[in-house]
Amino acid sequence: MADQSARWAEFRKRRRFALIVLIASVPWLGLAILLPRTMKFHDPLVGALMAVWFAVWVYAMAQFLLNRCPRCAKYFSQTRLLNLAFVNDQCVNCGLHKYSNW
Ligand SMILES: [Zn+2]
Repeated sequence: MADQSARWAEFRKRRRFALIVLIASVPWLGLAILLPRTMKFHDPLVGALMAVWFAVWVYAMAQFLLNRCPRCAKYFSQTRLLNLAFVNDQCVNCGLHKYSNW
């Protein structure tokens, strides 16, 4: 039985980062809605902050959604049509349960 703790630790780290970014998006979205229209589209600082936040968001979600299975090395939760990263507890390709050593 191989020790997969390092791979699962990376899996957990990516999931935690994605959840933090997702939760922290709520105030950003509120700010984007509440800011006056003139400030949203003409203030370079606001535009730069929103662009950086969006880039971080895309990076975090891509890392999380495209996690690879430690056993089969295919995407852990990606099927042809949808991604089940937030709900599945086993690999959609080989059936490895999340956080298990095999
Ligand atoms: Zn697998």
